[in-house]
Amino acid sequence: MSTVRRHRIAVIAGDGIGKEVVPEGLRVLEAVSRRYGFGLEYDHFDFASCEYYLRHGAMMPADWKQQIGSHDAIFFGAVGWPETVPDHISLWGSLIQFRREFDQYVNLRPVKLMPGVPSPLAGRKPGDIDFYVVRENTEGEYSSIGGRMFPGTDREIVMQETVMTRVGIDRVLKYAFELAQRREKKHLTSATKSNGISITMPYWDERVEAMAPQYADVRWDKYHIDILTAHFVQHPDWFDVVVASNLFGDILSDLGPACTGTIGIAPAANINPERVFPSLFEPVHGSAPDIAGKWIANPVGQIWSAALMLDHLGEREAAAAIVSAIERVLAEPALRTRDLGGPAGTIACGQAIADAVE
Ligand code: ATP
Ligand code: MG
Repeated sequence: MSTVRRHRIAVIAGDGIGKEVVPEGLRVLEAVSRRYGFGLEYDHFDFASCEYYLRHGAMMPADWKQQIGSHDAIFFGAVGWPETVPDHISLWGSLIQFRREFDQYVNLRPVKLMPGVPSPLAGRKPGDIDFYVVRENTEGEYSSIGGRMFPGTDREIVMQETVMTRVGIDRVLKYAFELAQRREKKHLTSATKSNGISITMPYWDERVEAMAPQYADVRWDKYHIDILTAHFVQHPDWFDVVVASNLFGDILSDLGPACTGTIGIAPAANINPERVFPSLFEPVHGSAPDIAGKWIANPVGQIWSAALMLDHLGEREAAAAIVSAIERVLAEPALRTRDLGGPAGTIACGQAIADAVE
């Protein structure tokens, strides 16, 4: 008797085009799991959506952690419908809760120029840009320690502390070094600003230096964040894996995908690498109320995030097969969606990628 590898996925489509692109992600996952011989079990959840909020007065049920906490991963669409629920409620009541409670301390974004997607960087071709941004997702600059003194007076002083911990830095660096080690170029770049931020950033640099000898096959370097953003635009071919603190990573993980074209194709992952808790995989784009219901949304961001999910679950070949199918479909003008100047609808594009996988 052979045992089939099985993965249990919590599916949350959320709002707007989330409900249109998630089914395309599932379609491609079905195709790839058939071809590579592993099983996927899905449980669908209607919470973490504004519709749920309007019915229940909360974004999620009280026992949400019990409901999805033992799944192997969360496959997420989009959340937000600002016309009915303010973004701070919808976002803080869902994604931010997942990130915190499931200790998803790595935010991962691939930056890869795909065929058929015009890059705003002149003269760049597919193959020129192919790297990952690894962002620390739980501490650093985004602490709520601080406050105002003498409010409302001429002497007003405002402070907000950056809090970095050895454990917090080391765990994200370990993830980044290991990712670099698995890649062909084996090159890690660290974002710093130790020439201006004179206490926390030198410490970050120290931790990189301390860890590097354990990954002797990985070549590493560091750049100050200001020049690093310039290099993203002028020399995106220099990078392989870029690791950064919460704030710097936030900036780089928007800049990177922006250099490779439309928001409709970029995927993201919030990862708990030890798999103590489920990690979450979602497209970078939001619920796109302006095009929701028209079935013209580009499903590639969602489908690519399915590839990130399979990679995390150890199905590396299947993950690579999805990325390669996306590349082949995007190379075909007739299969592109409207945001890429093509005629295809959401389903036609998703189906084409599923077919290309098989
Ligand atoms: P967030 O919800 O993350 O704050 P947002 O609401 O500012 O994001 P999006 O919902 O991502 O923004 O939409 C921004 C713009 O990009 C909209 O005009 C939307 O139509 C377009 N867009 C987003 N996703 C897609 C997609 N998958 N295909 C085509 N167009 C998209
Ligand atoms: Mg939005």
